[in-house]
Amino acid sequence: MPAASVAAADIVKSSNFLRQIIENDLSQGTYAQRHWAGTPGDAAHHAAGAPDPAKIRTRFPPEPNGYLHVGHAKSICLNFGLARDYGGVCHMRFDDTNPEKEDTEYVNSILDAVQWLGFDWQVNGQSHLFQASDYFDLMYRAAEYLIESGNAYVDEQTPDQMRANRGDFGKPGVDSPYRSRSPAENLARFREMRDGQHADGAMVLRSKIDMASPNINMRDPAIYRIRRATHHNTGDKWCIYPMYTFAHPIEDALEQITHSICTLEFEDQRPFYDWLMARLIEGGLLADPPPRQYEFARLNLTYVITSKRRLAQLVTENKVNGWDDPRMPTIVGLRRRGYTPAALQTFAERIGVTKSDSWIDYATLEGCLREDLDVSAPRAMAVLDPVKLILTNWHEVMGQGILDDCSAPVHPHHPELGKRHFKMGQEVWIERSDFMEVPSKGFFRLFPGNRVRLKYGHVIECTDAIKDEAGSAIAIRATVIKDTKSGTPGSDRIKVKGVITWVGADDGVPAQVRLYDRLFLDPQPDVGGKDFLESLNPDSLKVTTAIVEPSLAMAQPDDKFQFERHGYFVADRVDHSQGKPVFNLAVGLKDSWGR
Ligand code: ATP
Ligand code: MG
Repeated sequence: MPAASVAAADIVKSSNFLRQIIENDLSQGTYAQRHWAGTPGDAAHHAAGAPDPAKIRTRFPPEPNGYLHVGHAKSICLNFGLARDYGGVCHMRFDDTNPEKEDTEYVNSILDAVQWLGFDWQVNGQSHLFQASDYFDLMYRAAEYLIESGNAYVDEQTPDQMRANRGDFGKPGVDSPYRSRSPAENLARFREMRDGQHADGAMVLRSKIDMASPNINMRDPAIYRIRRATHHNTGDKWCIYPMYTFAHPIEDALEQITHSICTLEFEDQRPFYDWLMARLIEGGLLADPPPRQYEFARLNLTYVITSKRRLAQLVTENKVNGWDDPRMPTIVGLRRRGYTPAALQTFAERIGVTKSDSWIDYATLEGCLREDLDVSAPRAMAVLDPVKLILTNWHEVMGQGILDDCSAPVHPHHPELGKRHFKMGQEVWIERSDFMEVPSKGFFRLFPGNRVRLKYGHVIECTDAIKDEAGSAIAIRATVIKDTKSGTPGSDRIKVKGVITWVGADDGVPAQVRLYDRLFLDPQPDVGGKDFLESLNPDSLKVTTAIVEPSLAMAQPDDKFQFERHGYFVADRVDHSQGKPVFNLAVGLKDSWGR
């Protein structure tokens, strides 16, 4: 049995700007007076509730339009981790306000991924799983309030006119001719939009802020559009849908979020976020104090792409074998590759959060997995490129037909996990690369006349190789040296420079081994308009038939092992069975890539 993985509490936490903001808010009591009605809602709803038992509220708000990837894992660990560390609650929210792109298939995979990573939206017996589309009524009310208070208008310019009149960085925008309509006219128009009296795209509801603002996002951004589309939650109830920039702040406020953490590209949206909160609090719709938005740098990982659209392209063009291909940076892919929740949590903590974009070396991610598996993974021997080794004097030295019992610790630092047992006989499997007819300098393994130890077994002396017509070795021959069995008295009287791993021909188990490497050869495959498909690594997957020690015959899908000398492997969660073992390379023993 593997030892316990690194517990979340043992992961070293470093401070960051978000922790400082939260600690400051807690010491100032910024959110101490908030109420929470037990469910999301407007100001009156929460005012009738009890003081919020959660000190802070964060949220993880994916759009259910694809599979989560390693970048999302960073966001999940951040939001759920901050809530856990500061006596708060993190809401799991589906940002499903866009009717066209979403699918319930993704909803389940996202929930699964968050739970697998070790987080829960169920806190003190209460579920905090929400969907933004449940707030459409309240969003609609907020829009009507903005119209009534003179803060929004229906614009009937064409999309082209609207774009032209928005101006650009050097040029202020131009007011729409519809901007000066009265609230009553706008309200009537907006209700017509809602009632399906206008065609898709014929008009939009816009906030009324400042067409000359240096921040283009403040030049009367659109907040509602007409779109006849069936929504997976609300069906055909609506033919108008809120824009993301309008919906998201309201979702946060209705859920009494305190710290709304998003990636840097939303920095320019923050003034609108704050503007909207101020208007809706003035109108008594939303509770005060409002949530605040904070931005952090998204994860960029070398040799990895995280664009959902491009990941989808890899799948649909069969460059990989599905979303859970072990080479994919999706959470399902990483999981199948052998990644553990502890490794991903450590990774998120180690890379930290910053305010400026940077690239994280892929080796950092691998290092986190290696650390976790080094502590937890049972050891085993496996021969990945097998060639037979024949011990020609075995029967004379050991006795006719003898199979010698050998054993090794399951884990070198955990004697309590016991031993694994395997047998050595006249024939064993060794790595082809452990034999050289003519040794190169510094090669201490098998060559004629040299002695090595078969790990956990006897010292042997190489005699020669049996070769095929082309001259390549089909079997290696050696003699076993009496009384040198590892761990027996006097076994070290013969000194050897090399120790090699092996698997007995009598009890070894054939297994398929999938050797994965990076999917891309370019450290930044999709930066600067490059075609990421051009840098696909043609050798990202090699499938071999290995011989593994008998302890692996009992492996269950998802079980992880260190194959001595080779690296960490996982029994494939899809294709592995005890009758047909399949192991994936999770990560090598050392960071040797590119050397
Ligand atoms: P899309 O590619 O469709 O724009 P997205 O990758 O932004 O989507 P969302 O479902 O909107 O995915 O993301 C949910 C959350 O995950 C957001 O809060 C977003 O900030 C965060 N997130 C997404 N990608 C990364 C990343 N690479 N690093 C850190 N956080 C990320
Ligand atoms: Mg997004």
